[in-house]
This record gives sequence, structure tokens and C-alpha cells, in this order.
Amino acid sequence: MQEKLNRLSHLLKEVDDLEAASSILHWDQSTYMPAGGAVARGRQLATLSRLAHEKITDDEVGQLLEALEPWAVEQPYDDDDASLVRVTRRIYDKAVMVPPAFTAEFHSHCSQAYDAWTRARPEDDFAAVAPLLEKTVDLSRRLADYFPGYDHIADPLIDFSDYGMKAASVRTLFARLRQELVPLVEAICARPAADHTCLRQHFPKAGQRAFGQMLARAIGYDFERGRQDETHHPFMTRFAAGDVRITTRYKEEDLAEGLFSTIHEAGHALYELGVEPGFDGLPLGRGTSSGVHESQSRLWENMVGRSRGFWSFFYPRLQEAFPAQLAEVDLDRFYRAINRVERSLIRTDADEVTYNLHVMIRFDLELALLEGSLAVVDLPAAWNERYRQDLGVIPESDGDGVLQDVHWFAGVVGGAFQGYTLGNMLAAQLFEKACQERPDIPADIAAGRFDGLGQWLVEAVYRHGSKFTAPELIDRLVGRLSTDAIVRYLREKFGALYEI
Ligand code: ZN
Repeated sequence: MQEKLNRLSHLLKEVDDLEAASSILHWDQSTYMPAGGAVARGRQLATLSRLAHEKITDDEVGQLLEALEPWAVEQPYDDDDASLVRVTRRIYDKAVMVPPAFTAEFHSHCSQAYDAWTRARPEDDFAAVAPLLEKTVDLSRRLADYFPGYDHIADPLIDFSDYGMKAASVRTLFARLRQELVPLVEAICARPAADHTCLRQHFPKAGQRAFGQMLARAIGYDFERGRQDETHHPFMTRFAAGDVRITTRYKEEDLAEGLFSTIHEAGHALYELGVEPGFDGLPLGRGTSSGVHESQSRLWENMVGRSRGFWSFFYPRLQEAFPAQLAEVDLDRFYRAINRVERSLIRTDADEVTYNLHVMIRFDLELALLEGSLAVVDLPAAWNERYRQDLGVIPESDGDGVLQDVHWFAGVVGGAFQGYTLGNMLAAQLFEKACQERPDIPADIAAGRFDGLGQWLVEAVYRHGSKFTAPELIDRLVGRLSTDAIVRYLREKFGALYEI
């Protein structure tokens, strides 16, 4: 058995090496690569992804799994080696369903679409990317069709990022949450708006970077095992256990952008940095689903990073870093500004209360695109109409509307958005649970100490990597995914802020 396990690990690490090389090329494409590199980069990524696909679908992997499975099912469920066999089986079965030529075509197309999007967004030019998006929808449908037997065509695509969830189960949870959010947003918006002008002064980038990196370090991000660079659309990427990078976007006229995207991406990175080091290079060695991943970035960004306790400790330091801008602004005004609720256009700038409404719009629209009930050419109008209905605002340009998110222009249409809101729900559930088990956590946060919370999360979530699926992990920790904790959290926090 040991010999077979070693051989399987060896093959899987070769796959991981190819995937890590792709990740480095992606990271470079999104940070430093000159525009002239786009075409070749698309080809390079297609080659690497073809090689990785060939390796993971190699007959030898299938034979090793078959030989190891009778042994693995006899082991305790959470045994590392047995879990490796189980998780690899799931990946292998999915990979063999998709022809390599399709994967190559898809990746090459995504590179081209992403490149076009980076130019179309600042120019509000939806027409320039519409034919590419049509092809993406077509490819996404073809991808789903490699997994016949679904209830909804989005199900296989949702399953890729949030294993175990389906369009129907997500819709049920979203409907329940929406029922609570709409009246809450109405009640808040009936109150005087918080003044956020203190955030909209000129904050030089260098000062923002230094302060953001200090915060990332404080919550546990290790710059010996990572680095931070600038990009259009911030993300975290893992190359290895010892190299987990974050990216950030700064706006000199808006302090919140760089500050909270840094904490958000550092939250994703803490998850990856906390995975059991022995899993590195194996399918177990990364976060388990996009929803669980987002629960970590949002927990650190919002439950920690937008809390009064957090800023009671860090705000005096922020004032020291930007005395000309903030010396006359007290903590209360700053706290209200960073938690200002408004009906707005941009998802990534949205507050905690309206954020999930932005996600639901995208989720519904991508299901409609996949079903064929919405044509790409009608997407901008449908987008604007949903914003009018749900948030009471209409984008003046597609750059602030349908072009704002990279997702549909860099990957599959379908399955890319639900994880954000599932993550928000889970973040509230996990933070509640952590504070029940370690009642010192709020006081620790207010003293600038994050070890207690960090250790709880490593123990409960991070160290397991992908050993457990999201539903298994959630079952072990909090029973099931629920909207109750997020509703309690939002009502309590924003009820106090807006006196409702
Ligand atoms: Zn995120």
C-alpha cells in the first residue's frame, strides 16, 4: 500500500507543479505582464493546463486509485492517506469527463476574454467583449453537459467551486436571506446616511500600503511566506505552502478600497497558510471550496476588520499614519464611515448589508444566461433593471454595471458568485461559534491580539485543507449552513449603528 501511496503522491505533486506554474503565470498576467504578452500567455497557460489534465487523467492514476480504495475505506474517515485517496477520486472522476482539447480551448479563450475585458471596462465598451462572453456562455454550457444528469444546467458548474450545492439549494438559502435583507436595507436607508467624507480625502498610496501591510502582519499574514502586489481585481494565490500571495488595489481618493481589500485577501491567505504543511503539493493542500474560502476572507474583513473593537486599537495608529486627513476625525465617525450602508453600484465596494443583494443579482443573471432565457446582448439592460428593482440605483455606464466584475470575463459563467454569499453566511456562523468557545476573542481583538481567533480557525478549518468537503466541514462545526447567524449579526451591528 505504502508504495502505491507514494507513487500516487508523486504523480499528484507533478500535477500540482504544473498547476502552480499556471498560477504564477496568472499572477504575473494580473500584476506585471505588459499588454504585449497576452497572446503568448494564453498559449502558455493552455499548454500547462493540457499537460496537467493529461497527468491527472493518466491511466496509472485510475489504476492506483482502484488498487488503494479497498484499503482506504477500511481506514478512519479522517485518516490523511485515506482522505487523499477519496479526494483524488473525486477530482479524477471529474477530470476524465472533460476532454483535454476542451480544457485547452476554454483556457485559451479565457485568456483572450480577460485581456479584452481589461481594455473594455475603462472604456465602458460592452460591445467589445459581448462576442467573447457569448462564447464563454457557450463553453460553460458545454462544460456542464460533460456531466449529464443534472437538475439545472448550472449544477455541475456550482459543484466545481461549492461541492455539494445546487442551483435549487442556493436559491432556497438566497430567498430566505433576501427576505430579511430587503426590509433591513429599507429601514437603514430611511435613517440619515453615515458621513463617509473622512475616507474620501487624498491618501497617498505609499502610506496606505505600509498601513495595510502592518494590518495584514498583525492578523497573522507572514511576509516570509508571501508578498503583496497591485492588480485590477484583487485576489489571493497559492503557489506552495511557503508562498501564498495577495494582491490589492489602492485608490488614493478612497482609503477603504486598499485597506479592506488587503484584510480580505490576507484572510484568504491565512486559510492557505494554515493548511497542514504535510499536505503541500497534494489535492488536500488547499482550501476546500469557494464558499468556505470566502467565509475566511469575509470573517477577517468584516467581523474583525470592520468591528469597533478592531479600530479602537488600530484607529489611533491610522491617525498617526495620516494626521493631516484624520487628526480631527474621531473613532466614532470613522467607525460609522467604514460601515456606511448605501444602495450602490459596485459589489466590491458594497457594505455588509447590501453586498449579498449584489451577489444574488449576478447569481440569477448567470443562471438565466445558462438556461438561455437571457441573451448576452440583453445582459446590460437586464443588469440595469435588476439594480433598479433591488437596489434602487441604475448604472450610468457598463463599466460601473455589467463590466465591473472580472468573473464572467476570466472563467466559467456559472458557479462563480454564490460562494460570496454562502461565505458570508458561514463566516457569521463560524465567528459566533468561535466566540462561544473562546469568549476572550472580542476583548483580544480590541487589544490588537488575534492569536486566539487565528488558532481556533486553524484548528477548526484551516489545517484540514480539502480533507473534508464543505458540507462535511460545516456539518462537523455548525451542523448546516444557515442564514440565522448572519441575520442576527447584521441586525445587531447595524441596528446599533443606525438606531433601529
Ligand atoms: Zn474573496
